[in-house]
Amino acid sequence: MSFGVSYVLHLVLLFFMMFIAAWSQDDVVMQKLKSSITSSSNDLDWSDKDCCKWKGVSCSGTTVTEINLGQLNIQGSLPKELMQLTALTRFDCSENEFSGGFPYMPNSLQNLYIRNNSFTSMPSDFFTNMSNLIEVVIDSNPFSQWQIPSSLKNCLALKLFSANSAGLVGVIPEFFGNDTFPSLTDLKVSFNSLGGNLPNSLSGSSIENLWVNNQNGNKLNGTLSVLQNMTSLKVIWVQSNAFTGPIPDFSNHDQLSEVSFRDNQLTGVVPQSLISLQSLKAVALTNNRLQGSPPKFKDDVKVDNDMDKGINSFCTKVVGQPCSPLVNALLSVVEPFGYPLKLAQSWQGNDPCQGGWLGIVCSSGNISVIAFEKMGFSGSISSSFASLSSVTKLLLDNNHLTGTIPKELASMPALKELDVSNNALYGQIPSFRGDVVVKTGGNPDIGKDKPPGSPGSSSGGEYKKKISVGAIVGIVMGIVCLLGVVGVLVFVMRGRRHNKCAGKVQTPNAIVVHPRHSGDGNGVKISVAAAGSSSVGVARGTGGFSPSSSVRNVEAGNMVISIQVLREVTNNFSEKNILGKGGFATVYKGELDDGTKIAVKRMKSEMVGDEGLNEIKSEIAVLTRVRHRHLVALHGYCLDDNEKLLVFEYMPQGTLSQHIFDWKDDGSKPLGWKCRLSIALDVARGVEYLHGLAQQIFIHRDLKPSNILLGDDMRAKVADFGLVRLAPEGQTSFATRLAGTFGYLAPEYAVTGRVTTKVDVYSYGVILMEMITGRKVIENSQSDENIHLVTWFRRMLLNKDSFEKVIDPAMDIDEEGLESFRTMAGLASQCCAREPHQRPDMGHVVNVLAPLVEIWKPAEPEADDMYGIDLDISFPQGLSKWPNLEGTSNTLDVSKSSSMAAGCEYTQSSIPPRSPGFANSFTSADAR
Ligand code: ATP
Ligand code: MG
Repeated sequence: MSFGVSYVLHLVLLFFMMFIAAWSQDDVVMQKLKSSITSSSNDLDWSDKDCCKWKGVSCSGTTVTEINLGQLNIQGSLPKELMQLTALTRFDCSENEFSGGFPYMPNSLQNLYIRNNSFTSMPSDFFTNMSNLIEVVIDSNPFSQWQIPSSLKNCLALKLFSANSAGLVGVIPEFFGNDTFPSLTDLKVSFNSLGGNLPNSLSGSSIENLWVNNQNGNKLNGTLSVLQNMTSLKVIWVQSNAFTGPIPDFSNHDQLSEVSFRDNQLTGVVPQSLISLQSLKAVALTNNRLQGSPPKFKDDVKVDNDMDKGINSFCTKVVGQPCSPLVNALLSVVEPFGYPLKLAQSWQGNDPCQGGWLGIVCSSGNISVIAFEKMGFSGSISSSFASLSSVTKLLLDNNHLTGTIPKELASMPALKELDVSNNALYGQIPSFRGDVVVKTGGNPDIGKDKPPGSPGSSSGGEYKKKISVGAIVGIVMGIVCLLGVVGVLVFVMRGRRHNKCAGKVQTPNAIVVHPRHSGDGNGVKISVAAAGSSSVGVARGTGGFSPSSSVRNVEAGNMVISIQVLREVTNNFSEKNILGKGGFATVYKGELDDGTKIAVKRMKSEMVGDEGLNEIKSEIAVLTRVRHRHLVALHGYCLDDNEKLLVFEYMPQGTLSQHIFDWKDDGSKPLGWKCRLSIALDVARGVEYLHGLAQQIFIHRDLKPSNILLGDDMRAKVADFGLVRLAPEGQTSFATRLAGTFGYLAPEYAVTGRVTTKVDVYSYGVILMEMITGRKVIENSQSDENIHLVTWFRRMLLNKDSFEKVIDPAMDIDEEGLESFRTMAGLASQCCAREPHQRPDMGHVVNVLAPLVEIWKPAEPEADDMYGIDLDISFPQGLSKWPNLEGTSNTLDVSKSSSMAAGCEYTQSSIPPRSPGFANSFTSADAR
């Protein structure tokens, strides 16, 4: 008995000691956390002795169970001791400025939210013991490159994994799926550098929201076929990748409401299962290689399928209009091949006999030869070939075709030769007429019926689509009738085609964009080339500014402007109209009939060489399609023998350079701090778009204050993006750019010539420093060690006493301003880090600056507007609509930018007007 009592007492004592230990341990850990962070927010009151009474801290008894520190302006790092909070279930430090590595966490944790911070890494085995994790949100942290760790497999309870903009590289691992994560509903890994395919493990998963869009550098590729078996999906974002093949079948998706396929290389016909999907609310198709008829969705579906901006290969521009029977027949023929990209790229328009259709040869307006030999095709042979009744030669040899030779081919009336040699076909050869040459060599299994169960042994091969005999007869008759009509139409159309730009330049109508990776695998240069066949160029109308045409009356989609019109609107390039001169161009102000102002950049003749003129035209045509509120729009161009002109949106308040360096000469006031902040954010947004959100990645390479232009509202736009690549190689380096650009060049770019987006981040950092200090990047009057602004600025920043001495003396800055100054100064310094990987990406910059600007700004509709991308307007329409838009509350770009930049001291009326000639007194050369 006495033994029993003592045992119980011991037990009680033990529990008591454990309780005390747990209490004091949590307290110690929380004290440690407190000492490693600072907050500029008054909301974070952690003065109480009892940590359980601290703001954001929840306890069960004395044990910490939750830490919620979202949006409290906290700086600092997290101590490794956090792992000792053994009852912690929720940790949230989202939207602060935490930096350093993210530490291990206790395995009791269920909810982890750390998005929008500056954490630089997570331990690669972080997830190893975290079997209780349910939600993981680690977006928008400048993690150095890492892969989705295999330790994540241990988080069997995972419902939400969100790691957008989180430095991920490698592939999406095969373990995402129901086997490992039966509860997973959200997989969000956008804006990383993930490559490879969508893993097959996703098939059958319960994922509802799949975001894998906008992979940078590396891109996701392969087909989207796995989506067909992800029937719980509600949202699919796969845009801005390199996916190929057709849009899969969505017959079993009864919850799918939003799909973005934009900016991939998808081919084939948009499936009826998607078009008629009841739950669908929004769909984006622009800029793929989709074929067939442009789909007509239900009226309440928001459709992004811009046929002027994108490069889809629909047979017509009229939504819902069917394709010609011949086109339909050819599309069914290539469906089992997975709609090969090279065919989709070359098959333009509604008439396969107009010339230039890869693999199609016509004679007298009928298809005579199908030449698909050595194309690398896989899949099976379609019985639809039989509907092509005029075909005499069907060449399918030297591919990877499987299945059997459909017996319908034997009934092709004009067939003289069938070559299917060197594939992987099997089965009996159908009985062709005696005069048909049939070549089947190099198919080891031909003539054999494959044993059941072996690949391809199912009767009829993999190709499931069947066309009834009645349908075939119908198609054949349709083709015969239609060919006659199409023939007449083609004849008439050809007679009408002519070029209107000075009679010399043809519009590069079809653009193929080839992402070209630079040697280091980091930077992506984009090259563009006119689409393969010359016939593509004449497949669509050219239209354009003819000398006599009204400048408002232009056809949509055309960017070519005649030299005569440009002469007219600039008073024959009068001196009085000069806005400024740069290294290789003079910029003139022009005014259109309706009063719209434009800036005409007239290149010195050596700027654009004659070689590769087509490539340049194509490149310009791509640039004309890049639209964003904070990018100066390129409206059009004219290139002929003697003149190279680019036409831009006119920016009445000139360059940032004039406003920060030359305001005295102009008798105007210096820019206030809030105005500078707002401009910094505008520029960051423009560059962020160039880097990741545009249809392709653009690296500006020449960011500097003279390439940042201001509107009357003092909102900023980035100019001259993409132009560096237009200059002939070699000239960019010395004659024109040396003085102006030296200070802005990232060290690794200057040394190795390697270009990545981080080159722009560096230049951007320099611009921030110039805006903060009012000092030019290179000041020869300074002592040697202070000549380069970056070196001086970073040194001053290190020293607490000199910290604030960097501020432009022309500016009054209050307490509130000082706080944002500190943040911006730190950011500038970070952007100019020596090592590219230490520099943040522009998304991070935007995230840091946006809250600073929001302090003063009334709520702007910007955030919900797809990052300010103007998807709905292209130049000619925009130009003609311009007068109507101004002053309205329309959500389009033009009207929005009419709100004054936050905190700009200027008022609209007091902004000194900048007349043409204003910039003459300080050309860019002087501004350097
Ligand atoms: P660089 O030759 O190195 O690019 P830069 O940017 O100063 O130097 P340009 O781009 O040729 O040279 O521009 C010359 C000047 O023309 C600019 O400094 C600016 O004053 C004026 N300018 C250019 N584009 C516009 C525009 N869209 N609206 C108003 N003014 C403009
Ligand atoms: Mg410029």
